[in-house]
Amino acid sequence: MDSHKTNNLYERFAHLYRERNAPLESSSMAWGFQCENGWYKIIYEMSKKIEKLSSGSAHDCAITEVSRNEDGTLHVATRNLTPPIQDIITTAREQSRLTCEYCAYTPAFLRQGKGSLRGHIACGRCLRQAEGSRKQKATKRSRKPRRAPDVMVVKR
Ligand SMILES: [Zn+2]
Repeated sequence: MDSHKTNNLYERFAHLYRERNAPLESSSMAWGFQCENGWYKIIYEMSKKIEKLSSGSAHDCAITEVSRNEDGTLHVATRNLTPPIQDIITTAREQSRLTCEYCAYTPAFLRQGKGSLRGHIACGRCLRQAEGSRKQKATKRSRKPRRAPDVMVVKR
């Protein structure tokens, strides 16, 4: 996730992400949000719900890691987890399953195969963009695709 969005989350939910400056041996949060920008809103809403359950003490839930699961979905690890917070995290994970990690478009799906998006949940458009940029970096968005039969129209 880019630094602007990362800082927004850290500032808005400073207590929840209080381990962001902890040493890496004790918390992976120092790595930041290990996913792309498309999940910003999911993480923001999740953080907001968790924060509502917070009492402002050191015993509140702290998020220690945000990354991706093996199945491409959002992975969130915490300290001081409670059942309601587990539910909130599970909901966020289910949302991420169909949300493009890059642009937030839904539906999106787990990408397999050899491309750079392998293991990521991505919409068709981001997938094509990633593949296009790999083949020909200078391609402008407005230029017509060279292999028309592969292109599908995505209504947005
Ligand atoms: Zn996308």
